[in-house]
Amino acid sequence: MKSSTDCKSKTLAVVGGEPVRTSMLPYGQQWIDEDDIAAVVEVLRGNWLTTGPAVERFEAALAKRVGAKYAVAVSNGTAALHAMMHAIDVGPGDHVVVPTMTFAATASAVRYCRGTPIFADVESDTLLVDPEDFERKLTKSVKAIVAVDFAGQPCDYNALRSIAERHDVALLTDGCHALGATYDGQPVGSIAKMTAFSFHPVKHITAGEGGAITTNDEALADCMRQFRNHCMNRDHHSRQSQATWEYDIAKLGFNYRLTDVQCALATNQLSKLDGWLTRRREIAAAYDEAFKKIPGIAPLRQKPNRENAFHLYIIRVIANECGIDRATAFERLRAEGIGVNVHYQPIHQLSLYANDESGQTANCPRAAAAYAEILTLPIFPKMTDDDVAEVIAAGRKAFGKQ
Ligand SMILES: *Cc1c(COP(=O)(O)O)cnc(C)c1O
Repeated sequence: MKSSTDCKSKTLAVVGGEPVRTSMLPYGQQWIDEDDIAAVVEVLRGNWLTTGPAVERFEAALAKRVGAKYAVAVSNGTAALHAMMHAIDVGPGDHVVVPTMTFAATASAVRYCRGTPIFADVESDTLLVDPEDFERKLTKSVKAIVAVDFAGQPCDYNALRSIAERHDVALLTDGCHALGATYDGQPVGSIAKMTAFSFHPVKHITAGEGGAITTNDEALADCMRQFRNHCMNRDHHSRQSQATWEYDIAKLGFNYRLTDVQCALATNQLSKLDGWLTRRREIAAAYDEAFKKIPGIAPLRQKPNRENAFHLYIIRVIANECGIDRATAFERLRAEGIGVNVHYQPIHQLSLYANDESGQTANCPRAAAAYAEILTLPIFPKMTDDDVAEVIAAGRKAFGKQ
C-alpha cells in the first residue's frame, strides 16, 4: 500500500515536494577512523613535528605505491605543481601547454614561475586532453606539456610520450585526480617525468592539506627537496651530520614543507587506498548501470587499457534528450539533498587569463561546449549503499524517470 509520503516524494523538492535526503550529501569527503587519529597522536607525543622521520616514511610509502623511485612531500597539490615547474626551470618567456579543463592550479603553477600557460582542448566524451591539440599548440617556446588524468582516468600516454620525445619537451602529470589509476598496467606517478598529487580532503587520501611529487630522477627530486625549504643547499639533517651551521641559497625557494603530523595521517590513509579505490569503482558501476536507462545522461566514456581512480563521477546533461538543461538539473538535485557540483569552468575563460596571451590563443571549443553540460555527482568511499541509492533515486526524480 502506498503511503502519502510516496506520493508527496514524487513532487520535486525544488517546487516544495519532500526531498530524497534531508541532509546534503557532498560530492567528496574524507574518511577518518580511530587508527588515523592514533597515528597522528603518536607523532604529537614524539620529538618531531616537522622535517622528521614521519615525512620520510610517507615519501617511501608513496613512492613504492606508485612505482616511482622518489617522492617529495610538500604542503599541498598546488605547491607540488609549482615545484615541478621550478625543477624544469620554467621562467619568463617559457610556455607550458596545459589542458583548459582542469583546476586552475595547473595553470597557476606556470604563472608562479613567470611562464605562460598555453591552453589545449579536450575530447568531448572523456574530457581528457586531446593529444592532437597539444601538438598543434607546441612552439619553440614550449618547455613542457602537462597531462591531467581527468576525473581519475589516465590520459593517452602513448601518444603524449611520443609527442614529448619528438619535440623534446618534458611530459609532466597533474595526477591530483588519479592516485591509484593505471595506464597499460603502469601506475600514474611512474609514467611522466614528474607527477603531482594532492591530499586535500576530497582527494583519494588526505593529510588535511598536503601534496607530493613522484619521479625517477634523483636530481629533480633533490632540486624539489631544496625548493620546499627555501632552496637551502643543506637541510638541518646534513648541517647536523657535517657539524656546521652554514648553508647557501642560490635561488628563490619557499616554505612548502609538510609536517610529520600530516605525513603520519597520510601514511595511514595510504594503507587503505586499495579498498577505497574498489569502493569508488563499485559506486561508479552502480551509477553507470542506473543512468544508462535515462536518456540524456551521458557519463564520461571509459577508454581501454586503463584503471580509473574515479576521483569524480561526471555526467553530461544532454538537454535535447532529457528535456532539462544542466542548470535545472543542478538546482533540482541540490534541492533533493544531493551535493552536485561542476568541474570545471575552462581555465581560459577565467578573468585572469581571458584577455591575455593565454586566453587569446586558447581556442578550445570542445571544453567550452562541455562546460555547459557537465555535472559532478557524489562519489567517495565512505558513501553507504543507501547514499548511492538516494543519488540514483534523486537522479531518476530530477530527470523525470521514477
Ligand atoms: C586538487 C587539485 C589541485 C590542487 O591541489 P591542492 O592540494 O588543493 O593545492 C591541482 N590540480 C587538480 C587537477 C586538482 O584536482
